[in-house]
Amino acid sequence: MTNNIENNPLLNINQFPDYDTIAPEHALPAIEYLCDKAKTDINELLANAPITWETYEQLEAIDDTLGKAWSPISHLHSVMNNDEWRNAYQACQPIISQYGAEMSQHSGLYNFYCGLRDSDAFATYTDTQKKLVTDAIRDFELSGVSLSDEKKAEYQRLVQSASELYTTFSNNVLDATQSFHLHITDEQELAGIPDSALALYRQLAEQNEVEGFWLTLDFPSYVPALTYADNRELREKLYYAYNTRASELSDDGAFDNTDIIEAILAVRSDLAALLGFEQYADLSLANKMAESSVQVINFLTDLVKKSKAQGEKEYAELLAYGKEKLGLSDIQPWDIAYISEKLKQAEYAISQEQLREYFPVPKVIDGLFDIVGRLFKITFSENSALSKWHKDVQSFTVKNTDGEEITYFYMDLYARQGKNGGAWMNGAIDKIDSRLVQQKPVAYLTCNFIPPTDNLPAYLSHDEVVTLFHEFGHGLHHMLTTVTHSPLSGINGVEWDAVELPSQFMENFCFEKAVLQKMSAHKETGEALPDDLFDKLTAAKNYHSALMMLRQLEFSLFDIKIHSEYDTDNPQDVITTWKNVRKDVAVTPSPEYARFPMSFSHIFAGGYAAGYFSYKWAEVLSADAFSRFEEEGVYNENVGKAFKQEILQRGSSRTAMENFIAFRGREPEITALLRHNGIAC
Ligand SMILES: [Zn+2]
Repeated sequence: MTNNIENNPLLNINQFPDYDTIAPEHALPAIEYLCDKAKTDINELLANAPITWETYEQLEAIDDTLGKAWSPISHLHSVMNNDEWRNAYQACQPIISQYGAEMSQHSGLYNFYCGLRDSDAFATYTDTQKKLVTDAIRDFELSGVSLSDEKKAEYQRLVQSASELYTTFSNNVLDATQSFHLHITDEQELAGIPDSALALYRQLAEQNEVEGFWLTLDFPSYVPALTYADNRELREKLYYAYNTRASELSDDGAFDNTDIIEAILAVRSDLAALLGFEQYADLSLANKMAESSVQVINFLTDLVKKSKAQGEKEYAELLAYGKEKLGLSDIQPWDIAYISEKLKQAEYAISQEQLREYFPVPKVIDGLFDIVGRLFKITFSENSALSKWHKDVQSFTVKNTDGEEITYFYMDLYARQGKNGGAWMNGAIDKIDSRLVQQKPVAYLTCNFIPPTDNLPAYLSHDEVVTLFHEFGHGLHHMLTTVTHSPLSGINGVEWDAVELPSQFMENFCFEKAVLQKMSAHKETGEALPDDLFDKLTAAKNYHSALMMLRQLEFSLFDIKIHSEYDTDNPQDVITTWKNVRKDVAVTPSPEYARFPMSFSHIFAGGYAAGYFSYKWAEVLSADAFSRFEEEGVYNENVGKAFKQEILQRGSSRTAMENFIAFRGREPEITALLRHNGIAC
């Protein structure tokens, strides 16, 4: 134990975690030690130190030390998941969440912040300092700091049990996903599937030491098969497996999330009740930009109304095309992606696989750095000195125009075994500039693109380019912050329903000709994306946009409903609720066996509970923000500067609404979103 403390690379992390030395056995001793020490140090400060900003900075430093140790543990658990890291993470997790719950209910700390607010010095604080203090007080109150001791204990028990349930939920999804594979030896069964996916299936077969092809339910494997395989039975088999993941219908129920979801909803309902809220949604919205679940439901329902007629038209077109041109009568859910792609190719003669030939990763990265560099006056250079957790990872230094290093990030782009699916940005280090801590922000950018092969770089589909820009938008929000205290710096403290503003904003650049040409080079000819393809891409951009809008609205309404209509005495089955939402919203069919909620990790294992609507909410913000660039010029440096200064750098030092108005000169409007989606309004 002592050795694990003395030589533990998770303690004393200074600017960068040392990935060459961090190992699973360091996790538990570090977390136990730091949590204990933090509690002791905090209590000592509260007992002896004056109620001043200087004391606040000491508290911030304590918190940051623990955060810097925990960040690489949870990161490695997500990207290098194996038994050792999973065990290490699971051993730490209850300690961390218990610590978090204890701190958020610490009446001494609460009194300290109230003391700061009531002190004479408060009037002399900057707006940022004032907001930090009042946000902290609000969050303490949302965490039940005024509960009786008995109820506080109950609160902590519920928080810990929720966090264990989330971990179980997401492990079930991962295990259910990995438990399935199809081993295929006859290439003819895979007719229609593009070479890039076939190469992945071959690679996976090799890894599993068999001949032929190995198909899994991971996104890069599943999506191309469902979209392109001419083999209808194969699509059906995969579709069934994917849509019953982690339910009673797969793996003999070994990874069934039904009871887990029931338990999660019950725990959340108890938590809300304990804090004096009627429903969990009310608790969730208390620190969001949206004001009530009624407002959210109205917002979503309004979008459903505006999109549904167009969605029905799009689906009718798809059915007609499937029947007339592809000879598919009795069209089934596993045909939809396939027909949709064929129709898209026929109407726009463009496919993601055709586009993939134009976007080699190194060129895309250069293009991304170029546009971001020009707009926000920063430069990028690879920083090979930093230690990394995998050979595929790259790290970069970002400088401002004076040549000053302002931030750093890691890019981990490719899918591999043991890495959670999807794409995300996480903060590794928060920006702090206080008397005690001076550190620059560091970000993790994680994607799951098809890896490069022996003799070719990785190529991205246009959708994947969009994903990369999206996550980079989150990264910029974290990295370019000038706020000097961690609770408000970067994306910290930003309202959930506004946090997608910079990311969705960045996506818009992937539809600008000059940006795309700069980052494209055809696999064989090396030519940039030609005009005719660009025109088709633009035309295809809004292909089935109403169907996609409706899908997101379905998820959002399902989420807000299960969290705002929960009846303790008579908990409704979530599958039934989901199907009822579909009746109002969906225009495409879904089979009886579909169990989508069982793998809806965003709301059952992530932070989007009663907050999935945030994606659409933030799209309104990002579309409206980008429309200022459309009005004044996409490369307009003044607009870039204003976006950087009023939004990216501000973190949560002001409310999202204040940031938005400062940039746009008015409150957000919904029209730009509908226009960008090609939906008449
Ligand atoms: Zn995002």
